[in-house]
Amino acid sequence: MDEWYPPGTAASWDRVGLVLGEPDARVHRILCVVDIVPQTAREALDLGAQMIISHHPLLFRGVSSVAPTTYAGRIVHDLIRGGVALHVAHTNADIAADGVNEALADLFGLAGREPLTPDGLGRVGTLPSPLPLADFTRLAATVLPATPWGVRAAGDPARMIARVAVSSGSGSQSLPFATAAGADAVVTSDIKHHYASEHIAAGGPAIVEAAHWATEWPWLPRVAGLLRERFGVETIVSRLRTDPWTLHAPSAE
Ligand SMILES: [Zn+2]
Repeated sequence: MDEWYPPGTAASWDRVGLVLGEPDARVHRILCVVDIVPQTAREALDLGAQMIISHHPLLFRGVSSVAPTTYAGRIVHDLIRGGVALHVAHTNADIAADGVNEALADLFGLAGREPLTPDGLGRVGTLPSPLPLADFTRLAATVLPATPWGVRAAGDPARMIARVAVSSGSGSQSLPFATAAGADAVVTSDIKHHYASEHIAAGGPAIVEAAHWATEWPWLPRVAGLLRERFGVETIVSRLRTDPWTLHAPSAE
């Protein structure tokens, strides 16, 4: 994992690498997840996995206790007792060649792709054929993993989309880079009202917003495939939707 996703390439505020597990323990079955939460910890235990690869960190802020009476401590206890190791690849996976943004760009068949930001976050490239924003939004809803709230977009539905930026996870900081890269649309998540309005009013690329989890999940089959090929281990991609948003109701007309 450290070879494909070097820990030194993670953001300085990030917390990546081995979190739990004896380095000498044998691993036959690995579960790949976006979030290490009670449900995915339970899934790993039920599947008899010896390791979890998680995109999001479990222990992100400093902790003074992993008592089982705390949220994260409960997970730590259950995993150690079940003999399950935990490894996190977060911002180091975002920027990597076999990483989260490459997997996201693959969904749209983006050609001639380049990193979106100077740090290597995000990608920008060209669609196989241009299409109006309304159709592109439907395409995004089709190729991204399904969530209850689907995909929404900001911008003129008739705007033609040829050049597309993708920025997995929280993408507010990527909007100016998408504009500078000449993108017609940016696929991302977690964009606040004021960011979106100011960006669109300034003539920036259309914003196509999916659930945070949905923009990162496409990496899981990729990392699972790498691990299977290199080590001959069994890999399982979690299908549990760990996005916190579980309901969507369209407004009355
Ligand atoms: Zn994320």
